Amino acid sequence: KLFNEVQELKGNIRVYCRVRPFLPGQDKKSTTIDYMGENGELLISNPFKQGKDGHRMFKFNKVFNPFASQAEVFSDIQPLIRSVLDGFNVCIFAYGQTGSGKTYTMSGPSTSKQDWGVNYRALNDLFDISLSRRNAFSTSQPNGLVVPDASLHPVKSTSDVLDLMEIGQANRAVGSTALNERSSRSHSILTVHVRGLDLKNGSTSRGCLHLIDLAGSERVEKSEVTGDRLKEAQYINKSLSALGDVIFALAQKSAHVPYRNSKLTQVLQSSLGGQAKTLMFVQINPDVESYSETISTLKFAERVS
Ligand code: ADP
Ligand code: MG
Repeated sequence: KLFNEVQELKGNIRVYCRVRPFLPGQDKKSTTIDYMGENGELLISNPFKQGKDGHRMFKFNKVFNPFASQAEVFSDIQPLIRSVLDGFNVCIFAYGQTGSGKTYTMSGPSTSKQDWGVNYRALNDLFDISLSRRNAFSTSQPNGLVVPDASLHPVKSTSDVLDLMEIGQANRAVGSTALNERSSRSHSILTVHVRGLDLKNGSTSRGCLHLIDLAGSERVEKSEVTGDRLKEAQYINKSLSALGDVIFALAQKSAHVPYRNSKLTQVLQSSLGGQAKTLMFVQINPDVESYSETISTLKFAERVS
């Protein structure tokens, strides 16, 4: 095995928090974030409460501050991603409210190389290695379970993947909500199947990498949606809480893991638990207005870590 260092992390569920910077025009003074520590500590202050009750400390495997670059974030998770070449299944999620930077982390704000998110960097890295190790590649939406409109495409280079992902992004459902944004109302899953061939002894391995940009986690009431939009929002909430329950059960090493409660967890079943590795990026906003969503996001993350 070329990537021995990641063997030890097997079975681990890691939670990384990433704090988005203020956007142009936002008041930089009104933040809920008091402190971001080197060892994954995050201190949040409640804008409605003074004194020591007005603070809450969270602890994750890591906290990326608003100045962390795309390259920095990727270099941290590169060994985990490379372990698919040794036959491991890896799931990387981005979780958080709409506007918190999920797509920024997974895909990046543009397709120029320095902006590339985890998706492009991962594929690029795997292609670089596979050219020397001669692994075979294909990307797809999830297989194993029938998913409407999912498709499987052989790819030869990072630019083939970029093209496919652009089509995938365009196909994502977007709906206008009372949050007054075109928020993502769907999960986006990019799955890469990798067949590894050990050139020394001829043995083969199969690994699977899932890169998942989840739908916005904001609560239904806030979006003030009705009709189909409401059903959609309830469906999203249900699948996100089912995902939380599965990761929680795995983190607890519980005998029963409730995979069957949502399509999302069914699709990812073979890549969650067992020998698989899971990483969740928990994305948060720095501003005071987002306080209650930030706390509910962090509580979700705390439970699964
Ligand atoms: P989401 O996918 O969670 O709805 P986005 O990724 O679209 O959120 O991010 C919302 C806005 O914030 C975008 O304009 C994006 O470019 C910006 N943004 C998010 N994270 C960062 C970051 N780490 N650095 C700079 N801008 C960011
Ligand atoms: Mg998005």
